[in-house]
Amino acid sequence: MKKLALHWRIIIGMVLGVLFALLMINFEWGAQFIKDWIKPFGTIFINSLKLIAIPLILAALIKGITDLKDISSLSKMGTRTIVIYVMTTVIAVSIGLIVVNLVQPGDTLTEDTRTELINAYADDAAAKQQASKDQQNKGPLQPLIDLVPSNIFEAASSNRNMLQVIFFAVFFGISLILIPEIKGKPVKDFFDGVNDVILKMVDLIMLAAPYGVFALLAALIAESPSADLFAALAMYALSVVGGLLIMVIIYVFVVKTYTKKNPKFFLNGISPAQLLAFSTSSSAATLPVTMERVTEHLGVDEEVSSFVLPVGATINMDGTSLYQAVAALFIAQAFGIDLSFGTQLGIIATATLASIGSAAVPGAGMVMLVGVLGYAGIPEAGLALIFAVDRPLDMCRTVINVTGDATVSMVVAKSIGKLGEPNIKNWDDNYEAVK
Ligand code: ASP
Repeated sequence: MKKLALHWRIIIGMVLGVLFALLMINFEWGAQFIKDWIKPFGTIFINSLKLIAIPLILAALIKGITDLKDISSLSKMGTRTIVIYVMTTVIAVSIGLIVVNLVQPGDTLTEDTRTELINAYADDAAAKQQASKDQQNKGPLQPLIDLVPSNIFEAASSNRNMLQVIFFAVFFGISLILIPEIKGKPVKDFFDGVNDVILKMVDLIMLAAPYGVFALLAALIAESPSADLFAALAMYALSVVGGLLIMVIIYVFVVKTYTKKNPKFFLNGISPAQLLAFSTSSSAATLPVTMERVTEHLGVDEEVSSFVLPVGATINMDGTSLYQAVAALFIAQAFGIDLSFGTQLGIIATATLASIGSAAVPGAGMVMLVGVLGYAGIPEAGLALIFAVDRPLDMCRTVINVTGDATVSMVVAKSIGKLGEPNIKNWDDNYEAVK
């Protein structure tokens, strides 16, 4: 019998997880049962993905850079990557601003709902404000200082320090190119091997993906707030989702026109990573799968994907920046604040920087939103207005963050002649291909 493609298995896992939770919450003990007996499997699944993120970045990046053989190709690829990342982010924020100005979701919020939301989520909003303050209390060059770790083992001990690990790997890789080949070869071969082992670990973890997402979505439903609040924020949520969908169209268009790969090929290739991004709300946790899919299924050379994707997971967040623009204007509208064209242009810059600064973990985009609100003079207490629907929107924006990274990796690969045909090493998918 033909085995179902991986993305279908994951979708079935998600749907069953939602249905299971909807059934269980009818029982008094249902939500607790899910929390005690189902949710842990979701947590184990996410942990196993996060577990391999740092070793994967190290091995893949060191291997990728040494494959490049010279530093000028690295700087060419690096410059292109950063420029295209910033461009896509600016496009995303602009789309967010256009949508929110057209739809004006803030005007649909009644005075009563506004008060109710502010009362209900004041504490949560304050916690995000505090988290943001902790980040802002540092000097202007702090992000640069943060890039260079003082101890690689300490840096590698937290997934939040991915940029530091990337810095170390690039530095190490460049130095490896510069030593005599006879000395460098064993080191390179070692990282080559480690890289393959980790990609195999991704394959094995993905066998559990349908069960993992079942647990994650069941837990999410069991813990979600009341449906009434969702309804009150529907126009806001639809504006974010509408903007995100426009981004998907743009990605598909770019891939089609620039790399000549058709939309079905692109979306089929990347869909398991998108589904995981949706279920985990974390581009960092999704990174190992994104790397595997982009390299093996979309034909991007490892030299490119091993650099472009880890960097993208940490700095390129198109979905997050779009959301920040919509959320900032929604809050302003709800409070009856009129933002000038100049301020809105400033939001493009601040949301771009805020998304670069957001960690690739659930809810990070909201912490950085505080900075955007502060810049535009919008009351930070307004965060309480959007709290109720933040998790589902986080799931959606993470999908776009990951899709944006994959798109840019294809574009960069094509521009330097490193986009080839898929090279599927996963036995499971080979099996599908042969059948
Ligand atoms: N959860 C997002 C990510 O990991 C970041 C955010 O927007 O909160 O990509």
